[in-house]
Amino acid sequence: MTKLDAIVVGAGFAGLYMLHRLRQRGLSVQVLEQGGDVGGTWYWNRYPGARCDNESLGYSVSFLPELDQEWSWPERYSEQPVILRYINRIADELDLRRDIRFNTRVESARFDGSENLWQVDTDNGERLQARFVIMATGCLSVPNWPDIKGREDFAGDTLHTALWPHEGYDFTGKKVAVIGTGSTAIQSIPHIAGQAGKLTVFQRTANHCVPAQNGPLDPVVERERKAHYPEMRERARYTRSGDVVPQGEITIMDLDDEALEVVLQDCWDQGGFYTQYPFADQMTDPQANARVTAFSHQHIRSRVKDPATAELLCARDHPFGTKRLCADTGYFETYNLDHVHLVDLNTTPIEAVEARGIRTSDAMFDVDVIIYATGFDAMTGALTRIEITGRDGLVLRDKWDHGTRSLLGVSVAGFPNLFTVTGPGSPSVMINVVAAIEQHVEWIDACIGWLGEQGAASIEASPDAENAWVEHVNATADATLFPKANSWYMGANIPGKARVFMPYVGGLGPYRHHCDKVAADGYPGFVVTGKQGGPA
Ligand code: NAP
Repeated sequence: MTKLDAIVVGAGFAGLYMLHRLRQRGLSVQVLEQGGDVGGTWYWNRYPGARCDNESLGYSVSFLPELDQEWSWPERYSEQPVILRYINRIADELDLRRDIRFNTRVESARFDGSENLWQVDTDNGERLQARFVIMATGCLSVPNWPDIKGREDFAGDTLHTALWPHEGYDFTGKKVAVIGTGSTAIQSIPHIAGQAGKLTVFQRTANHCVPAQNGPLDPVVERERKAHYPEMRERARYTRSGDVVPQGEITIMDLDDEALEVVLQDCWDQGGFYTQYPFADQMTDPQANARVTAFSHQHIRSRVKDPATAELLCARDHPFGTKRLCADTGYFETYNLDHVHLVDLNTTPIEAVEARGIRTSDAMFDVDVIIYATGFDAMTGALTRIEITGRDGLVLRDKWDHGTRSLLGVSVAGFPNLFTVTGPGSPSVMINVVAAIEQHVEWIDACIGWLGEQGAASIEASPDAENAWVEHVNATADATLFPKANSWYMGANIPGKARVFMPYVGGLGPYRHHCDKVAADGYPGFVVTGKQGGPA
């Protein structure tokens, strides 16, 4: 049996950086990755139009300064193949592949307290042992297949955006159905419409959108960033969003309608998540939020010719930004095309998928291909699908049955020496996720180093500190409008999943300060046990 210092699960941004850090520390590390190559999210999500809604200059790693200078991002927001190339470059640059086993899914991880070791079993029938297990499994890595009657009966092609065929898919002349209108659908629908003979979009809930305003990266902006990359990266580490953008400087309710219109138009012109950060009250004051919503609805009405379709595309059931904002490029205009139709599932729900297509309560839609753009079992799915057994037979899935519990989103009481990168209770998906990943990886690496210096055997969250952190995460979310949406942040997209607001909305900077203080103070709130090599 292979015995290691650490096993890292996942070879996306998080797993690669974790491997690099622990190797630098001199540890023996094995990364296990279910995909055929590196990339994580960017390996799987190859649907047409897939690109990152975070700007490329920020959505990139800070630990390869030479690469920062050499690499040229062609567009403001990079498309999936470019990001995947970039991740491959990181793997090559640091010679990471030799410690990664691809096409290997972790089925279970069990803590053995007598030896203070984790036993990890893979779907290849192999068992590995390690002192530390680091779950770098991503927040959006388990596709959600909706439980629609007859789904298996469809005679045409079935696709899920998160499991897109590597060879692509030719929609030319085909009758296509897309189920879902989240970020993924909003990115892919204009591209699919460009090929399809007929496209029908099945919408249950409209989502709030901002224009991406993508385009070739401005060479002046690129030059400027390259001249100041280290300072910008350092600043980004302490902002709330993990990006260098305006943060909370404008109070919407201080502005009259005319002034607000000017500010919001500027946001819409800047595009992307620019809209999310300059305001102090957008995410806390329902009235302020409603004014942004009204502005965004005006925009939709100005872009969609059919008034009834425009109204259906206006999100009304949740405050602006309380579900992950979508960034659109030509999404709304797509509904002006004669061969594109929107079906409102609120008035005419899907009753079944049949061999020839989708039957709603009032019509049958014959299609050649159904695309499920139905999202993910987010934040917990990849962790709860693995049988993770900690102390005294405690299974993580059971522990989280009534809601996620974790200290800092990085350590769970009852699971010694198990770390979760961007786990529930950390900023993760609320911010630039690469920045979130780097903060976690560096903290975990330092923690492992500290344990070595202490000669300690194990570390895990104490139940009291875990409870206190969960309360803080909830209180922070409850001070905002976020819990008002039935979002995947709340687990609301998965039937039967506990409804708790999972990410931490306190912002990266404050969170980093807190985590750094915990480390500097000798990890209060954590139980540190035993001597290395002995029982925990
Ligand atoms: P999503 O936001 O969860 O959207 C899923 C869509 O499927 C929703 O419209 C949902 O409707 C619909 N749906 C689910 N089950 C359904 C059912 N049974 N019947 C009808 N409709 C159903 O998933 P996503 O679009 O894949 O995006 C997930 C996240 O991935 C994003 O929020 C974002 O964080 C990330 N993402 C990031 C980028 C990027 O730029 N980096 C790009 C794409 C995605 P309801 O809303 O009614 O549930």
